Amino acid sequence: MSEKLKKCGACVEAFNWDDDVILVNDEIYHKDCVTLYPTGYFAMLDGDPLGETENEDGSMAFFELEAGEYIDND
Ligand SMILES: [Zn+2]
Repeated sequence: MSEKLKKCGACVEAFNWDDDVILVNDEIYHKDCVTLYPTGYFAMLDGDPLGETENEDGSMAFFELEAGEYIDND
């Protein structure tokens, strides 16, 4: 077996040409070896899951909150 063969980052098996693969941070995995979460972003706080978010780019507080729920510098 060639030393050039890329191995799955999870099961350390080489890939067949027709395997479904995904790239994650320059590692390659069998699609079946990992669990994919296709929905937006998941927010964590000190390792504890907060929940999914759709506004991963962030938005200004006043846009998301009611008046009085944020510090108003006016
Ligand atoms: Zn694998």
